[in-house]
Amino acid sequence: MTARTGSICTHQPHCPTPDDLDREAARIVASHPEQGWSLLCNGIVVFEDTGELLPDGRVIAPHRPAAV
Ligand SMILES: [Zn+2]
Repeated sequence: MTARTGSICTHQPHCPTPDDLDREAARIVASHPEQGWSLLCNGIVVFEDTGELLPDGRVIAPHRPAAV
């Protein structure tokens, strides 16, 4: 078993990594709805408009229609 640098995942099976297409399936470890973002177990910050901030600094633009 190889530990991923910076990974805090202790789940079995492990959460998807930030590079996986299903990265958003990782568990939420910290939720801040009043600020509009959540931290996933794999280190991704997901914003309520579906934009994402990856642990390596990449930004994913919102990709789902925002709820009106
Ligand atoms: Zn996890």
